[in-house]
Amino acid sequence: VRARHAERLRRAADEAERQGFVALVVAPSPDLRYLIGYEPMPLERLTVLMIRPGREPFLVVPELERPLARAAPGGALLEIEGWVDGVDPYGRVARSLPSEGRVAVGDRLWSAHLLGLQRACPGIAFAPGSPVMGRLRATKDPDELDALRHAARAADETFRQIVQQPFVGRREAEVAADLARLLVEHGHRAAEFTIVASGANAASPHHEPGSRTIVPKDAVVMDFGGELAGYFSDTTRTVAVVEPPDGLEEVFGVVRDAQSAAVEAVRPGVTTDSIDAVARDVIEAAGYGERFIHRTGHGIGLEVHEAPYLVAGDGTVLEPGVTFSVEPGIYLPGRFGVRIEDIVAVTDDGVERLNRSSRDLAVVR
Ligand code: ZN
Ligand code: ZN
Ligand code: ZN
Repeated sequence: VRARHAERLRRAADEAERQGFVALVVAPSPDLRYLIGYEPMPLERLTVLMIRPGREPFLVVPELERPLARAAPGGALLEIEGWVDGVDPYGRVARSLPSEGRVAVGDRLWSAHLLGLQRACPGIAFAPGSPVMGRLRATKDPDELDALRHAARAADETFRQIVQQPFVGRREAEVAADLARLLVEHGHRAAEFTIVASGANAASPHHEPGSRTIVPKDAVVMDFGGELAGYFSDTTRTVAVVEPPDGLEEVFGVVRDAQSAAVEAVRPGVTTDSIDAVARDVIEAAGYGERFIHRTGHGIGLEVHEAPYLVAGDGTVLEPGVTFSVEPGIYLPGRFGVRIEDIVAVTDDGVERLNRSSRDLAVVR
């Protein structure tokens, strides 16, 4: 474990240097967990990991949290600089930096801390750290891929069981509670999200499940997932209740074709935006282009949404080990919506679907 963190710290420093940064500043966040396995609560007291190309990394922590930091999996790899209440921690960070240059800051550094750093380092240009950390975290190692496989299988098993439950006469919120319970039964630490959107609510991609009672001829979009052993699941299936509403089968077929075409296009060397375009082309050709109102997918790992994004302008070149969702949808206001989402991993010569649930239209009772 310690060797893995040492390797990640080295790669972060190399990538920061390659992108022209004199330092990378990482606050409590999934980035920090990735680099050193340390997960303190983000607070008004400054905690930051300082990574500087060619120099040793160090961790700035409130003195009272030094024991906690030391005990972290990567804690022994670092010099730990404690600061006591009443001292200016930003000045300590400033003294470790050159007077000029570009510094990358992690996306989760609170603005209060960034403002403190900017005040203390007037010659430094601060820039987003996501191009550095997003790139590192996007490519998963074999252990991470295994963790994502387990999370996906647990979500598949959740879906297999939810469609055996009755839907007619139950409220969206009750089905959502069942999804949450099943996710946990299959090993998730917690259910992070359980979207159950029925009838016309299914036209709202991020619908909050509520008191609507599910009736025959509803389409129901279920989008659910959570964290299992540190890594996220996220899958979506759309089902018909008793029988499909008018027009659902046609739209469902278009979304399924778009999702299949996009997944089949995944291989090393292609770009994320080209995968988005593959899904979008299928939906546009069927006349629903304006009803596909979101990107095709997002990276997944320590966070449910992380780099890269399958969206016009992202342009990440896929390489083996990159994991992301493929989740096209069509939303018809006042009628219904359809989304199908699987997590996939780029392999040496193509793609592995981590979710294995059937993509045919399931009919529930
Ligand atoms: Zn979403
Ligand atoms: Zn989802
Ligand atoms: Zn998703």
